[in-house]
Amino acid sequence: MSKLKKLKAPWRITFDTNPDICNLNCIMCDTHSIYNPNKTKKRKNLPIDVVEKVISSVAEYLEEIIPSTMGEPLLYKDFPKIIELAKKYNVKINLTTNGTFPILGVEEWAKLLMPVVSDIKVSINGVSKEIAESIMVGIDIEKQIENIKVLIKHRDLVRKKGINYPTITFQATFMKKNLYELPKLLKLAIQLGVDRFKGHHLWITWEEIKDEDLRNNKELIEEWNKIVDEFYKIKEKYNSDIKLDNIYKLGNTNSQKVNREDFICPFLGKEAWINWDGQFNVCCAPDNLRKNFGYFGNVLEEDFLTLWNSEKYNNLLKIWGNNPVCQMCNMKKPRNQVKYE
Ligand code: SF4
Ligand code: SF4
Repeated sequence: MSKLKKLKAPWRITFDTNPDICNLNCIMCDTHSIYNPNKTKKRKNLPIDVVEKVISSVAEYLEEIIPSTMGEPLLYKDFPKIIELAKKYNVKINLTTNGTFPILGVEEWAKLLMPVVSDIKVSINGVSKEIAESIMVGIDIEKQIENIKVLIKHRDLVRKKGINYPTITFQATFMKKNLYELPKLLKLAIQLGVDRFKGHHLWITWEEIKDEDLRNNKELIEEWNKIVDEFYKIKEKYNSDIKLDNIYKLGNTNSQKVNREDFICPFLGKEAWINWDGQFNVCCAPDNLRKNFGYFGNVLEEDFLTLWNSEKYNNLLKIWGNNPVCQMCNMKKPRNQVKYE
């Protein structure tokens, strides 16, 4: 595997603010899935003062923060304070949301968010009710699309006033269930004026979805590769400048793809994750897999930068690709597609 360079401090930090709080039950979710037999809420919210302590320690280098990618961040009770912190330390919020815009509703959230976000990724997994709502269980797809239209209206207002230049992304999880719906989803994104279409292949979180992985066999890989061609044809046909992110063909087997020398981990040495309990996590691979890397300390006990510069973390950067989790990881990217090499 290729060597990884390390930044003085992460350019982006993800805070696991409220992993146990969500209003949906997506099938692939490692916590809230309808297939999770044990949905007891054991994890507390990350206190807002811990979030501020970490941000202030690296504010000089930090460009973005991501509030919880597990759980719906807009349900974090201190979310308005996160917006204040972003203003105070001059960092952008990169938000991933399920598109339900709970508590305040989409109009109010859009007004608060657009001046301080770099991007809002809305998770969306189909256009038809049948597909979209069978993957993101609990979503109302029609309402979700209406919400996206409101977001786009506010994005354009903020851009026009020159306050900020926020973007909106569709984020999908690629699987057998939505494979043939993905081109329609891209067309919808183009029609609505979405800036970017992004996705990733499925992590198998539950036995019930193991047949959904498009990398399971040669036939599925070929079908996926045809869809990739279709994506680029659609983009051309509509003469659209939508950005297609993380959309590339797979080799005949998944292992060939992930072991390619020109694929690197975009996260180690560049980004950091702070768990709900203050633990420093090195990447966003599912908990049970990432635990193979070991323990890298806790910001409740030590300064974040001490952990970032620890021998153990530095050593992980040297040996990262040899770990079996890295070898099967679907988040590695072609070297020329990462923000910082
Ligand atoms: S919206 Fe996110 S956190 Fe909520 S169930 Fe879906 S995947 Fe899980
Ligand atoms: S599992 Fe993936 S994201 Fe995590 S360190 Fe390895 S390559 Fe990077």
